[in-house]
Amino acid sequence: MDLYEHQARELFAEHGIVVPRAEVTSSSKEARAIARGLGGRAVVKAQVKTGGRGKAGGVKLAADPAAAELTARQILGMDIKGHTVRKVMLAQPVDIESEFYVSYVLDRATGTFLAIASAEGGMDIEEVAATRPEAVARIPVDPAEGVTTAAAARIAHAAGLPPQAVDVLVRLWGVLTREDALLVEVNPLVRTAQGDILALDGKVTLDDNARFRQQRWGAQEIAHDDPLEARAAAKGLNYVKLDGEVGVIGNGAGLVMSTLDVVAGCGARPANFLDIGGGASAQVMADGLGVILDDPAVRSVLVNVFGGITACDAVADGIVRALESVRLTKPLVVRLDGNNAARGRAILDDRAHPLVRQATTMDGAARQAADLARDPACLNPA
Ligand code: GDP
Ligand code: MN
Repeated sequence: MDLYEHQARELFAEHGIVVPRAEVTSSSKEARAIARGLGGRAVVKAQVKTGGRGKAGGVKLAADPAAAELTARQILGMDIKGHTVRKVMLAQPVDIESEFYVSYVLDRATGTFLAIASAEGGMDIEEVAATRPEAVARIPVDPAEGVTTAAAARIAHAAGLPPQAVDVLVRLWGVLTREDALLVEVNPLVRTAQGDILALDGKVTLDDNARFRQQRWGAQEIAHDDPLEARAAAKGLNYVKLDGEVGVIGNGAGLVMSTLDVVAGCGARPANFLDIGGGASAQVMADGLGVILDDPAVRSVLVNVFGGITACDAVADGIVRALESVRLTKPLVVRLDGNNAARGRAILDDRAHPLVRQATTMDGAARQAADLARDPACLNPA
């Protein structure tokens, strides 16, 4: 789960990293009062869980409380990369002398943490990393040792950060480890004209496995920008919307992932990932089918099940019962294999739904589903 900037800076402050004074609001009237409280001038910042707000016009300096109200009114409701701005943060402006970049991220490839730091932080860090990778230091962190003062000094030295950044690097490691984060990023970390070091922006991604320890942020549910994903999540389905036209349902994440590949191999594009897991409940099948059929991009649906503890006949029963509550509007190709496959196929044959097809192999099923997505007429060849 990603935190909002204002939540990330709350954590930073608790760990002794200096942040500018700031307050959050959803009202432009209140923005005016907050700016007054901050001394008149304020940086008005969109609170959305995406980067690049500055370039999108979501970070603006207001010269006085009246301007802060006007700017807040402009930014509230703005769409930034598909995220609607519902809150703004007003921060006391600081006099920036230099902008740095620092982050710790879990590097799954090497199975360790990586410190990434650069003396050329700010809004163009992606471009710096792409065009001049040598300007961005990437240093593995031994998770058992952590970021000691000595380790932080090495990181700061490699990136060309000023000596005062060492303390911030140690504290930021504390945020990562003690707050169950997988990523902490400060961009920009700035040095002011007065020589102070402050975190002006923050991104924190918490480990969802530690959600039970993070009740503090738990009140807010996961934000799903896609309405189908939101619906699926509300029904407890393991569903991810994709861009294609072949709906996919399978049991087991590995099987579903392979199914997506096989569909793509047939020249079609999967419309979603949906793992219905080990159970064969008709309710789960009905919920999953309901979500997939309501995706206007879907032209055919592929059910790929390998029967194990939950046998294929139970899955077939689930499909038949799901068809009682869900009106099938698009062709459905079912491939049942594994435990009790023959019994499962017989159950579907008996049901003889005009839009349901069966296939015995995964490749054959994917090919049928792909063909049907291209041309639904091939369901009933004349
Ligand atoms: P992002 O674009 O989403 O990463 O948003 P940031 O919070 O990083 O803000 C973008 C840029 O606005 C920063 O790189 C700074 O250059 C600038 N900025 C943010 N806060 C302040 C501030 O308090 N004072 C000044 N002068 N510039 C700021
Ligand atoms: Mn930033």
